[in-house]
Amino acid sequence: MKNMFIKNGILINAEESRKADLLVHDGKIVETGTIAAGELPENGRVIDAEGCRILPGGIDPHVHLSLPTPAGNSSDDFLSGSRAALAGGTTTLFDFVTPRRGQSLHEALVERRLESERSRCPCHLHMGISEWNNEIAKEIVPLIESQGITSFKAYLAYQETIGITPSALKELMTIVAPTGATVMVHCEDGDMISKLCKILLSECKTRPFYHAIARMAETETGAISTVLELSVQTSCPVYIVHVSTGEGARLISAAKQSGIKVFAETCPHYLLLDDSRYGAEIPDREVLPCIMSPPLRTTEDQSALWKGLNDGTFDVVATDHCPFNTYGQKDIGLKDFTRIPNGVGGIEYRTRLLYTYGVLQGRISLEKMVYLTSSRPAEIFGLSHSKGRLAPGFDADIVLLNPDFEEIISTKNQVQKCDSNIYEGMTLRGRITIL
Ligand SMILES: [Zn+2]
Repeated sequence: MKNMFIKNGILINAEESRKADLLVHDGKIVETGTIAAGELPENGRVIDAEGCRILPGGIDPHVHLSLPTPAGNSSDDFLSGSRAALAGGTTTLFDFVTPRRGQSLHEALVERRLESERSRCPCHLHMGISEWNNEIAKEIVPLIESQGITSFKAYLAYQETIGITPSALKELMTIVAPTGATVMVHCEDGDMISKLCKILLSECKTRPFYHAIARMAETETGAISTVLELSVQTSCPVYIVHVSTGEGARLISAAKQSGIKVFAETCPHYLLLDDSRYGAEIPDREVLPCIMSPPLRTTEDQSALWKGLNDGTFDVVATDHCPFNTYGQKDIGLKDFTRIPNGVGGIEYRTRLLYTYGVLQGRISLEKMVYLTSSRPAEIFGLSHSKGRLAPGFDADIVLLNPDFEEIISTKNQVQKCDSNIYEGMTLRGRITIL
């Protein structure tokens, strides 16, 4: 087990930063402060962290490794995806069980747990609900009580494959409410999107950028309103994944102020990229890598999301990491945008993107970055007893951020497995080492 003495670093926790040493015995933090070197066991490492920031390991509660789709699995599997996570300072992941329709939740959980064992870092699972009937309803409470499931995920989009209706979601939330578990929801109005897709295709508007036109901002904000209302009706805590619009953030902020128990997440791509990636003049193959749901929004939305990171609207920045290759996967939908597998990579860059474009540009503090990427997700998903803080008794998931380094993002130097990279050419400040 890990024994370490890290001296002279600056420890960053969500509530405060301070210059301090840190002592690790058997993989646990045992002391922080001014520590005498003699306290280190003989087989321990001494690390001089002068000039470096020391962060609690990142927790990404939203990734899709080896996600099965009609275009094949997402291109990072548990092994490569977890390596990319570790390269980026994330030491704990949450992926999803996505049961096939007709399959029991329990059976799907067993299968996915087996797959996730290939991860190089702890990988927990949220339980996806891809259809709704009496059998599924009966499985919910036993999964919480005997399998330790604390979070369920439902999609209001993708009605044809894994989505459920708002009335089914209400039944799920009614069952989950008294248990203390949380329901995560992908908020996009699936019916509205299906109708828009049919209209566009019937008008021969098939190019990739129409994906974003079919998923206009209202498809997200309408679904967020529906889910907030269901939370009021059922008293079930909800976690709204990947909020992409300023209006969505505003609705959530108002709901929080009125006492609704809602958690909100956004992603680095909504903070840093915008809908100029969907210009009609851009070659279709260059648009394909940026096809995700919800799509990229306007620069005004971006500003509102950054504001929401600071004013308490958002609890978490997660990546929704779900890359697909452009050649052989995304290009299946080159002539029909509805067939493009949705998703992008980002697990490797979350910490450094937030550091470079958030902290160094004065948009968020380093403490806020730790809150959004580690301590808050630990609290929401039941890990706050052991993860998300640099303090005695906590796991020694320790990230060293050395601000003196710079790197240009490129498919040539990435760890993630994918033939494209939506952040290609962007500069990252800081080098990450997992201790
Ligand atoms: Zn997702």
